Order: sequence, then structure tokens, then C-alpha cells
Amino acid sequence: MAEGDSVARIAARLDAATSGAVIVHSDVRHPRFATVDLAGQRILEWRARGKHLLSRTDAGVTVHSHLRMTGSWSVLRPHKRLPARVLPQLRIALRLDDGRTLVGVALPVLTVLRTSDEHAVVGHLGPDLLGPDTDSIAVAAARVAAAGGEAVVAALLDQRRVAGLGNMWAQELLFLHGVNPWRHAGGVDGLETLLTDARRRLRHAVRENPSQNTTGRRSPRHWVYGRARRPCLRCGTPIAFRPAERTSHGRETWWCPVCQPD
Ligand SMILES: [Zn+2]
Repeated sequence: MAEGDSVARIAARLDAATSGAVIVHSDVRHPRFATVDLAGQRILEWRARGKHLLSRTDAGVTVHSHLRMTGSWSVLRPHKRLPARVLPQLRIALRLDDGRTLVGVALPVLTVLRTSDEHAVVGHLGPDLLGPDTDSIAVAAARVAAAGGEAVVAALLDQRRVAGLGNMWAQELLFLHGVNPWRHAGGVDGLETLLTDARRRLRHAVRENPSQNTTGRRSPRHWVYGRARRPCLRCGTPIAFRPAERTSHGRETWWCPVCQPD
């Protein structure tokens, strides 16, 4: 799943590439929105909210999407077409007034709605680690702690409690703060410190790691993420791993049993 920082980079890239452009033809391949016509509307901006993408037009319309594991957005140069093998996965194509075409492929979530109704699709999200500073870390920490007896790793990934963390960041932050992922969320000290650090690292990643990759996938060096049975980079202990099907929240989990004691 894309991380919040990847989605923020994608939003910034699409914003730079297409804001100000006028849509001259729209094709939304979604049963609920097939009749939607965005022609004549100017793209005002792209924004990320948690891991959701919001593209707003001057007609007060928002195209809302979520990439999950599969989705991508790209901008085709004039006269450039999508490869035939990708065509069945096309969900939305917006031809722009300069001849380019904005295409969304394999988007598992795609909604077209009034901008004033965005709360219906992103209103459930907790404070956004990449949002404005008014999105309170203290509130996010309280929401994570409110998960009580739930594993802290699951609580950190619950976007209703705090928005923007994907599995990679959750694992790495828990390692860096010496917190065992299976500890009860309600009993973890220093959640506010951990989330403040998370915000700093995510913001840094948005600035320092410009990605050309529209899926937001990236492969930096990790402390624990993806390192099952390999020696901990800090203490040498083999990294522990639990497959997704053996966790209550359905996500692969890695940790160092020594650096992150139970
Ligand atoms: Zn270790």
C-alpha cells in the first residue's frame, strides 16, 4: 500500500503538471459516474489527504481516488496512447486543452463528488501526518491510545486514528522507538513523541525523495521492514516476522525481539 509521503509526492507532481489546465473531454469508466461530464472545467489543484488523492476543479467538483496496491495516475503526452494491455484497467481519462491526457489506471477507489462534500470520503480520517500543523499530533496520539487492547501496530495503521502511515513506516517507527508491535496501544508511552517523529520523517521523505514512480513504490534501506530472519542492523538478532494471515489486522509484521522487547 502506498505510504502517505508517496501519495503526497504524487499529488505534488500531478498538481505541478496539470493545475490550471482545462479538461476538454472526460471519460469516467465507473458504473456510478459513467455519465459525469467534466468538460469545460479547469483543474484547480491536487491535494493528498492521508493516502487519498483529491483533484479539484473550478466547477466545485472533486475527483477522489485511492491507489491502494494497484492504482496509478499519469499524464500522457499529446497523441500518446495507453498500451493496449493496460486499456481494460483504465478508469478515467481526462483530455486537457494542451493535448495531453490525464489517465487513472486500476484505481480501486474512484468517486466524483462536490468539493463541498469531500468530508463524505475523507471525513473519517484521523489527523493527517502530512496535513497542516493544525492537524494535532496530540489528538492522533490519543486516538491511537484509545485502541486500548489492540496491537499498537494495528492502531497506527488505522487511518481513522492517524492518517498517512503505511505498513513500512509503521514498522520502521516502532523499531526506531523501541516499541514492540504487539504491545497494547493503550499501554504504550511516548506515542506523541513517536508520531511527532513520524511527521518529521514523512515530511522529509516528501521533500528529499521525489519519485517518478506513480504507484509510489520505493525501496530504501530498512531497519526491520522486509528483513525477516536477517540480522538486526543494531544488535544482530534475527528479525522476527509474522505473516499477514497470522495477524488480526491482516498485515505482514517485522520486529527485533531484542530492540523491541515485549
Ligand atoms: Zn535489534
